Amino acid sequence: MIGDPVSVHVSEDFDAYAEGRLDVRQVRCVLCTTAPCACPEFGSPEYLELVDRLHGTNFAGGQR
Ligand SMILES: [Zn+2]
Repeated sequence: MIGDPVSVHVSEDFDAYAEGRLDVRQVRCVLCTTAPCACPEFGSPEYLELVDRLHGTNFAGGQR
């Protein structure tokens, strides 16, 4: 399992979902860590801010 690049951003919950043990709404989102996902709209400033916080980078807006 170690070194699988795909699993890095996938929570343990997603494994359970993939195996049919969890409903998709019970899968904790890796971004907002909430189940069901409570992320802002994809691509919105709020969403990018969330991604920023997760990765610790200045991603949103693209300018400093
Ligand atoms: Zn989310």
